[in-house]
Amino acid sequence: MPFELAPLPYAANALEPHVDARTMEIHHGKHHAAYTSNLNAAIQGTALDGESIEAILAKISSSSAAVRNNGGGFYNHNLFWNCMAPGKGGKPSGALSTAIDAAFGSFDAFKEEFSNAAKTRFGSGWAWLIVHDGKLVVCSSPNQDNPLMDDAPVKGTPILGLDVWEHAYYLNYQNRRPDYVSAFWNVVNWDFVSAQFQQALK
Ligand code: MN
Repeated sequence: MPFELAPLPYAANALEPHVDARTMEIHHGKHHAAYTSNLNAAIQGTALDGESIEAILAKISSSSAAVRNNGGGFYNHNLFWNCMAPGKGGKPSGALSTAIDAAFGSFDAFKEEFSNAAKTRFGSGWAWLIVHDGKLVVCSSPNQDNPLMDDAPVKGTPILGLDVWEHAYYLNYQNRRPDYVSAFWNVVNWDFVSAQFQQALK
């Protein structure tokens, strides 16, 4: 079975004014769609055909650039869409809230560290909140790399991701990446992130 582009979990305009509909349409319908079809083309007829995306990423160092870039792009955007939802934002609760306080001192301190990771990632890439050995860590990665890749400098299970490629914000925010990063907090779906956290601890 080839990988499939899942529909957005909400309407393209659902995250406005924080993320605009046109950006969502192009980002999901063109960029994510291209990563998906290019990944399928890159693994067709190879030993990777039929493996899970997580399994492919876990041994990415032995794959081609096409599998790395499109496999990362496929996985990263699947996570990203679900990390956001309309009418969300605010703060996490429960075990995730406790773990954030333990790792970073406070939610505000975590927000600042994650925002800085997003703002200072030079060029195209992602900011991440990951679970590493049961603990929360903030990191960033270039291009479509991610912390599931076996050759990532910081490894772990991503539970929150923010796309800082220009295609994620340029139509609405132009060069103002910090404004896009600030707006992101208004749409973070902490229920989803908490579920990912629980899953990563298993
Ligand atoms: Mn993207």
